[in-house]
Amino acid sequence: MLDEKLEPIYADVLRRNAGEEEFHQAVHEVLDSLGAVIAKHPHYAENALIERICEPERQIIFRVPWVDDRGQVQINRGFRVQFNSALGPYKGGLRFHPSVLLGTIKFLGFEQTFKNALTGMPIGGGKGGSDFDPKGRSDAEIMRFCQSFMTELGRHLGEYTDVPAGDIGVGGREIGYMFGQYKRMTNRYESGVLTGKGLTWGGSRVRTEATGYGAVYFVERMLRRRSTQFDGKKVIVSGAGNVAIYTIEKVQKLGGRVIACSDSNGYVVEESGIDLALLKEIKERKRGRVSDYAMARKGATYVPNGRIWDVPADVAMPSATQNELTGADAKTLVRNGVLAVGEGANMPCTPEAVRTFIDANVLFGPGKATNAGGVATSALEMQQNASRDSWSFETTEEKLRTIMHSIHDNCAQTADEYGSPGNYVLGANVTGFIRVAEAMQAMGVV
Ligand code: GLU
Repeated sequence: MLDEKLEPIYADVLRRNAGEEEFHQAVHEVLDSLGAVIAKHPHYAENALIERICEPERQIIFRVPWVDDRGQVQINRGFRVQFNSALGPYKGGLRFHPSVLLGTIKFLGFEQTFKNALTGMPIGGGKGGSDFDPKGRSDAEIMRFCQSFMTELGRHLGEYTDVPAGDIGVGGREIGYMFGQYKRMTNRYESGVLTGKGLTWGGSRVRTEATGYGAVYFVERMLRRRSTQFDGKKVIVSGAGNVAIYTIEKVQKLGGRVIACSDSNGYVVEESGIDLALLKEIKERKRGRVSDYAMARKGATYVPNGRIWDVPADVAMPSATQNELTGADAKTLVRNGVLAVGEGANMPCTPEAVRTFIDANVLFGPGKATNAGGVATSALEMQQNASRDSWSFETTEEKLRTIMHSIHDNCAQTADEYGSPGNYVLGANVTGFIRVAEAMQAMGVV
């Protein structure tokens, strides 16, 4: 139940964003945490501040025409939702996936605003993408698509305005094609306009690893509150993309055993532990599937269309996509004795799943906090670009670790202050909200 002051605000969000269920879900989750804030500090509900926070500053939708390898013209839809710039230029990734709709980008931009605030760095929130499906497309097709996409998006960007990066379907290759097109359009080498760039042309060390590594640091810090650690733990990581791969890498470095990972077709279990070098070879170099991995390993079992959450584990790190872990999955995990769940993806657990974990006293790290290491390292990339500097791997990783620990500690402290010790969902939503709200109030009605 939402606070009575927040109920009409939510009703309005439903009415004005009809059919955009993921956006409704993301807003509801934050409003659910804000009842406690406005009870304590009623001024945060003044001047329609919460209504303004729920309304994106700008939403851009555009046509992306391109020519495929057979010479046929293809049309996709491009989006950029510039959600909130109270704390800095809009910042957030681009997602290329056939499921992308305006509501998807809106939910991601909303989440991004609070996530970015939690990092304590000068970045606002935004998100973009397209319903383009990169699967099975040639390099040349990807390039032509990225060029066409940037031709339209470019006019809305700038290092002080809006700084995109990667997300699902957008990695180093795509950022390269988009940066090249932006540079050509503007005749400027504006390094700070995109993050996730290659190391030889303005990228930051650790950016590739950052989301996964950061998520593991966050969970490590939660485990410490129960006087335990990753060493010797059984871990399952859904997904097999960038976040999953570097989550697996860091868990393994800390002595954990990752026994399962997945993609949209199925999951693979290997009790002795996933062979990360092989997984990287298949996913990063060959752009293959986890079924290819299972085929290459004697000890691995492939379960097509199965639920990875059926595999008993101490720690679960959902790192694929939104709503991939349902209430029923959460019950299975709890029954199997899961100790901690850290969201590597954005909103991978449904509201029922989150409730199940919190009720069962499972350590639960919400994506806004747990996966903030990616965007935090993007902000470190912006810092290096602005000072024309380039830091070592060790220096950059140390900064990432410090940021993740402070995000964890701030969330934990806020949860204590608001009478819900251990509730990181409340801690993250309230901490992020207050930072954005303070800046918005200082700037007046804009
Ligand atoms: N897409 C990532 C996220 O969800 C990274 C965004 C960025 O680096 O700007 O936070």
